[in-house]
Amino acid sequence: MKEHAVKLAILDMLSDGHFHSGEELGDQLEISRAAVSKHIKGIQAWGVDIFSVQGKGYKLADSMQLLNQQQLQNSVDVPVELIPVIGSTNQYLMDRIGLLQSGSVCIAEYQSQGRGRRGREWVSPFGCNLYLSMYWRLEAGMAGAMGLSLVVGVAIVEALEKIGIEGIKLKWPNDLYFYDKKLAGILVEMSGQAGAAAHLVIGMGMNLKMAASTQGITQPWSCLSDVTESAIDRNQLATTLINTLQTALSEYEIHGMQGFVERWNRLDNYLGREVRLIMGAREVSGISCGINEQGAVLIRTNSGLETYIGGEISLRGM
Ligand code: ATP
Repeated sequence: MKEHAVKLAILDMLSDGHFHSGEELGDQLEISRAAVSKHIKGIQAWGVDIFSVQGKGYKLADSMQLLNQQQLQNSVDVPVELIPVIGSTNQYLMDRIGLLQSGSVCIAEYQSQGRGRRGREWVSPFGCNLYLSMYWRLEAGMAGAMGLSLVVGVAIVEALEKIGIEGIKLKWPNDLYFYDKKLAGILVEMSGQAGAAAHLVIGMGMNLKMAASTQGITQPWSCLSDVTESAIDRNQLATTLINTLQTALSEYEIHGMQGFVERWNRLDNYLGREVRLIMGAREVSGISCGINEQGAVLIRTNSGLETYIGGEISLRGM
């Protein structure tokens, strides 16, 4: 069997939410009970909460709906590759840029090396969130890519609003927030040369229903299950996000950031609030005043209205 195939088969059986004995799982997969127990430990290391009860077997602490390649592919018109266990969906696409059609998507259940900006970790437990990346060839080149992560953020929040999920805001430049807690992160990476088309990989990690006990996240975070009580169909949400990304990127190619500032400012989590900008060892604090047409953040400080832009800046509330 392929790498991880046994663990994925065990998860598939457990995903009905019932108890399954080690013997039953072993018989189905033609492996010993000891091997089942070893694989269960491996699955737990992916961040899945499984408990065992003597005489009954194993059970998932929470129900789990797995992603389905066929269902995803049938609902979008770009190539989708579901790789359940991966290092990083962004890295996977970055490594294959020359081979990909613009719009190609990679989606995963678990990332062992999920990442945020500047090499920070994106904690990516199995089966409870969404981790997806899209490759986009931007004919306008690198200079045309400025502001793209802002456009993507707005498109995603507006798409969630359309399906009845309200109250999600944006934090400059690229995070989705719910009541001051990080719900999702967007990471745009690119390669290309000046004067040529830019190769972009737009990645997103969105928390849907992550265990409160999840370790390793260094700031307050939230999940979509905090935003809505309705059950979330992971396959449906993934296809909504893929279609949204595709539309937003096509529109961005034509219109850039035109008419965009108000849409972003409406969703600004920190508009009118006191914030600080961290730029390496330097910090600036003031009142956040939204963005301008270049995608820079505006801060009212004691010296007046200042604009800041660049990948090395982090914004934090007070
Ligand atoms: P910036 O404002 O510069 O974007 P950031 O610290 O939010 O700063 P990102 O690169 O957007 O950085 O994301 C990485 C950070 O997000 C991690 O350092 C961690 O604090 C947090 N994080 C990691 N995994 C998750 C997750 N699943 N949900 C919410 N937050 C996470």
